[in-house]
Order: sequence, then C-alpha cells, then structure tokens
Amino acid sequence: MENIRELLPETGKMKDMDASSILLCDEAQFAGRVRNALENGEFTVFYQPQYSYRTKRMCGVEALMRWRHAGQMISPAKFISRLERNGMIYEVDRFIWRRVCQALSAWKKEGIDAPYMSINVSGRDMHHADFEAYLVSLTEEYDLQPQNLHLEITETAYMKDLKFMIRVIKSLQRRGFIVEMDDFGRGYSSLTALKNVPFDVIKLDMDFLQESEINEKAKQILTSVIEMLQKIRIPVIVEGVECEKQAELLNRLGCDYMQGYYFGKPTDRPAFEALLREARRG
Ligand code: C2E
Ligand code: CA
Ligand code: CA
Repeated sequence: MENIRELLPETGKMKDMDASSILLCDEAQFAGRVRNALENGEFTVFYQPQYSYRTKRMCGVEALMRWRHAGQMISPAKFISRLERNGMIYEVDRFIWRRVCQALSAWKKEGIDAPYMSINVSGRDMHHADFEAYLVSLTEEYDLQPQNLHLEITETAYMKDLKFMIRVIKSLQRRGFIVEMDDFGRGYSSLTALKNVPFDVIKLDMDFLQESEINEKAKQILTSVIEMLQKIRIPVIVEGVECEKQAELLNRLGCDYMQGYYFGKPTDRPAFEALLREARRG
C-alpha cells in the first residue's frame, strides 16, 4: 500500500490565505470574479483515486474542483455554498463536467484505461430544466458511456423536495448514470434519504465520526453503520481514509472500496495521468 501512496506526489497544496481576498467582497463583485474565472479558465479539476483495498487496484476517481487564483489553489469548500446561493454553481459545475469528459475522452483515444469518474453534483444543479439533457449531451459529444460517470449528490437544502429528487435520480439511472449519495451520515436527514432515494452507492466519510483517533465508541458506530449498509445491500465507498490502521479496520468490517490521503491526494491532470500510465504498466 505504501507504494500506491508514493506514486502520487502531493501537488497543488491549497492555501486558504488567498480565499479571503476572493470571498471578502459583495455579491456583485463575487459574481464578476466568478465570471472572469470562468472566462480565464481559473477553475480546474483535481483528481483523487479510489482503490479496492483487496486487489490494490484503482477502481475509480473523483473529480474535485479547484479555483486557481494568483498562483494558489482555493478549496471549493470556501466558495461552493456561495455559488449555490447566487445561482452560479450550475455554470461552474457544467464547466467542470465538460473538463472531466474532455479528459476521459482524451485518455480513451490514447488507449489509457481510465476507471469511472465521479463528479460532484449540487442539489441545486438538479433543479435546472436541462440538467439531465446536458449530462447526456456531454456523454454523446465525447463518445462516453453514462456508466463512465458517477454522480455524487450531497444532502443539501436543495434536497428538501425528496419526491422531485427521486424522480430526477430514477430518470438519470434509466439513462445509465450511477448515482451516489455523498457524505452519508453528515446531514440531518441521511437516514430518510437512504430509505427513500434509490442511490446506487453510498459514500461514507470517515470524517463523520470527527475523531482523529479511532476510539471504542467511534469503532462501534462505524461497525453498526457499515453493518446496516451491508444489510440493505448497498455498495459503500469509504472516503477520508488517512492511515493504514483505518484501512485495515475498514477491510475487516467488509469495506473494500476506499478513497483518502492514505491512498493518494487529489492531484492535477498531468500527475494523475502519470498514475494511470503507471497502473497500466502494472
Ligand atoms: P467531498 O465531495 O466530500 O470531497 C471530499 C473532500 O475531502 C475533498 O475536499 C478532498 O480533497 C478531501 N479529502 C480527500 N481525502 C481526504 C482525507 O484523507 N482526509 C481529509 N481530511 N480530507 C480528504 P475538497 O476538494 O476541498 O472539496 C470540498 C467539497 O467541495 C467536496 O467535498 C464537495 O462537496 C465540494 N466540491 C468539490 N468539487 C466540486 C464540484 O466540482 N462541484 C460541486 N458542486 N461541488 C464540489
Ligand atoms: Ca464528493
Ligand atoms: Ca464526501
């Protein structure tokens, strides 16, 4: 497992310092900065691999947005909610999804065997009339299969209308997209969503325990949550796996698919392509 980590250099360390200069402005200025960033290609994609612990093979990859500004990377955690509030998230997400499809298509043409790509979808995106049609048109334009894209949806304020969400998700699944519930356990109504929404995969974040050390209580909660997900036969990916101890414990609990700093940090496209080529060589 050690060499998997070594294959990925830590690239593009994010600094929060700069974020303040972007965010400390009024709504009109912020919207203008986002527009400039879109025009100047300041939004970019970082790629974080997902592994099968048992086979040690890469099984998927998550695309994570970054705002490259004044030579630094700004974490999406700093601005996503603001984009959701001002309604620009859809435009920025579409930009990111297109970049992702371009990359998948380029790898396919080069003969690089890439795993599926998980993209993040804001609950707000799903309320746009052309949301599904846009995703379908992207896969057609770049000659991809819908199964090449996994859609990670987080429980947000926009998920209040469960009936609407279920309708959209079922329709996406009929098209062939794989729909994942992101951040299971973090929100207030994860169980309601789990019971009612037909997700294909659940993403369980180790962070939901908010424990740096795995103590007995945390272990019991984790064990029970995993048991419950196994009972309802829903595949799980655990993210935020930071050390061998956590990975081993998860493996003992029957979880195979994992993502986190222990396996590899999010990296830019050249570094991730190097990793893909390395994986192909065996
Ligand atoms: P997320 O979807 O839950 O993504 C996982 C976050 O955990 C990422 O933060 C990732 O860099 C970080 N992470 C990965 N491994 C570890 C680990 O082992 N330990 C810890 N502590 N953290 C780890 P990031 O990239 O800053 O993204 C933050 C959030 O912003 C994402 O959380 C997602 O909700 C949102 N986001 C990212 N990209 C996009 C996007 O393209 N569109 C939308 N709508 N939201 C996005
Ligand atoms: Ca995610
Ligand atoms: Ca997550």
